[in-house]
Amino acid sequence: MLPFNRVEINLDILRTNYVNIQRLVGSMVQVMVVVKSDAYGHGLLPASKVFHEAGARTFGVHEIGEGVALRKSGIIGNIVVLSGAVIEGLAEIIHYQLTPVAFDLTVLQELSDLAIKSGAKVGVHLKVDIGMGRLGIMPDEMISFVHAMQQMKGIYTAGFFSHFPLADTVVAHHITLQQCERFATILRQADDSMRGKQIIHIANSAALIRLPTTHFDMVRPGITLYGYYPDADDPVLHNKLQIKPAMSFKSKVIQVKNLPVGHGISYGHKFVTTRPTRVAVLPVGYNDGYSRSLTGKAMVLIKGRRAPVVGTICMNLCMADITDLPEVKVGDEVVMMGTQGDSVITADEIAGWLDTISYEVLCMFGRANRQEYHVLEDRG
Ligand SMILES: *Cc1c(COP(=O)(O)O)cnc(C)c1O
Repeated sequence: MLPFNRVEINLDILRTNYVNIQRLVGSMVQVMVVVKSDAYGHGLLPASKVFHEAGARTFGVHEIGEGVALRKSGIIGNIVVLSGAVIEGLAEIIHYQLTPVAFDLTVLQELSDLAIKSGAKVGVHLKVDIGMGRLGIMPDEMISFVHAMQQMKGIYTAGFFSHFPLADTVVAHHITLQQCERFATILRQADDSMRGKQIIHIANSAALIRLPTTHFDMVRPGITLYGYYPDADDPVLHNKLQIKPAMSFKSKVIQVKNLPVGHGISYGHKFVTTRPTRVAVLPVGYNDGYSRSLTGKAMVLIKGRRAPVVGTICMNLCMADITDLPEVKVGDEVVMMGTQGDSVITADEIAGWLDTISYEVLCMFGRANRQEYHVLEDRG
């Protein structure tokens, strides 16, 4: 028997989101589909296949194994390994023709040596840090880095890029634009040495919607492919790009029971009934990504209506108060995230309850649950 819980992924919506992003940036700009973290919980291979069929030819993954899986599944085009090369993975990079991000000369030297031995030449994307304080070469080290790389005959610079730390913060747009100018300056300086045609890219979802001057040759959307805006509260984003959430998270009622007034519910009795209460027991808990931190905050949809989750969320179970929904019975569908009737609970709403962002909610639910794929024409 299949597990009770599932995330449903609508592949038509994924396709439409991709197409709308490509349309927004225009045909002169390529789209790297960011499919790291199991395509933000939507399934690396099914999601990548849909984007591939819709025309995507550059894929962004976190580590080498994901790139290998994509290649083995028949994906053609560039697979950029965003966290770069590591010594143990050099043979796979060469064999599967992956494109690692470059920021470490020791690893690159090894990669180059191995490539020469294998009769290959490996393209890498150089990453400069324009303010993120994360992966990448510091601007003042870029020229010497490029010179050192030129001695390595087994590799070449296929791309040059950076990443914005503040693109999703409207009030910091002037900083993002300054960082973009800085990026362009470093690029010009490095270009004299690189002497080639590199693919230039810097824009994530937020920048690609808000700041067209950051598009360069390619943009790198992640969250928007999956139907969420990097800033849920900014209507400007919604007006510029049409996308829809592709993932729902569903379960079903396994018991319905009546509790008298003054009855505690779940561990610690953090919730005690104040009226005769009808409760639906749901086979959903923190093992399913339904974090214990949602206790006291979460709502679910049953019969198209909202019902509060009451009492501490357990490892595999939680309880919904259905006193106002007398028609609920065992077996009824429960939607933790998604739409039911006229009601909707989004990853943004759940992220608000958890004090996090939609990104984490999607990864959490996607990783913990069976992924079920639908190609039904979306009617919403
Ligand atoms: C994850 C990631 C992205 C995608 O960011 P979104 O905000 O999801 O669009 C782009 N570039 C890099 C380097 C990333 O790590």
